[in-house]
Amino acid sequence: MNGIQVARRNPRIVVALAGTVTAAVALAACSAGTGSSAASSSVATPSASASASSSGESGKEAHWSYAGSDGPAAWGSLSNAFEECQIGQAQSPIDVQDPVQQTAPAPQPDYRPAVSAIVDNGHSIEATPTVAAGDLDVAGEPFSLKYMHFHAPSEHTINGKSFPLEMHFVNKTPEGAATALGVMVEPGAVNPAWQPLITAMANVKSGAPVTAPLPWNSMAPTKFRAYNYPGSLTTPPCTQPVDWYLVDQPITMSSAQIAAFTSRYSNTNRPVQPVNGRTILLTGSN
Ligand SMILES: [Zn+2]
Repeated sequence: MNGIQVARRNPRIVVALAGTVTAAVALAACSAGTGSSAASSSVATPSASASASSSGESGKEAHWSYAGSDGPAAWGSLSNAFEECQIGQAQSPIDVQDPVQQTAPAPQPDYRPAVSAIVDNGHSIEATPTVAAGDLDVAGEPFSLKYMHFHAPSEHTINGKSFPLEMHFVNKTPEGAATALGVMVEPGAVNPAWQPLITAMANVKSGAPVTAPLPWNSMAPTKFRAYNYPGSLTTPPCTQPVDWYLVDQPITMSSAQIAAFTSRYSNTNRPVQPVNGRTILLTGSN
């Protein structure tokens, strides 16, 4: 678990320089994987419950999962390091309701195709570009694409609606500020942009990354509005703040493509958390 876990419990909080809600976390903005996981020689063993572990302040390993005695309701009590899961007042995910329309533009992905390492990190399948794959432009500031993984079903809901998949694109500045771009998936037409990852994913075994070129420029939508709110990591240690952007319209994949993901991991969604008065912005005009 090594580097993955170390990175996860030591998020470096930084404040980005631009944007309306700019506090960010220099880490996995939402889940356990990190941009460096592809380089790790030892990744977690996958399991049906997507269980994982992390060292608490005591140094003992604190196991967590998405169900049972070490499931989300217990995360905050599993380790001192996970305290924020229980006491944090700006946690993620949330149900998106009553957004406030903004004149600020939505973030603009400017990704490009890149050879990427695809790993099973014990929670999800995660793809990490091994060369520069472009940026997410947020209010004029470029955040480089670091990695992408999925949750099934979606972690965020929109007016109570859940989706079969939620893809998390994590982007960072050189200084470590990060933004998370969440993209919902609903059943529909075959999505050719995602097929290279799905094809490569079939060969991914625990601890054995598979390398493949991925068309990042086509995997993420390029024109959209996005819900923006201040949240947290959605996995222990549930660190906040994290700057979230959720694309307001889902992309489609065929049922078979969706099943390619859900057959690897499912029920990897933390329940929605109390909004506690946070304002949800809707950025972008269309
Ligand atoms: Zn995530």
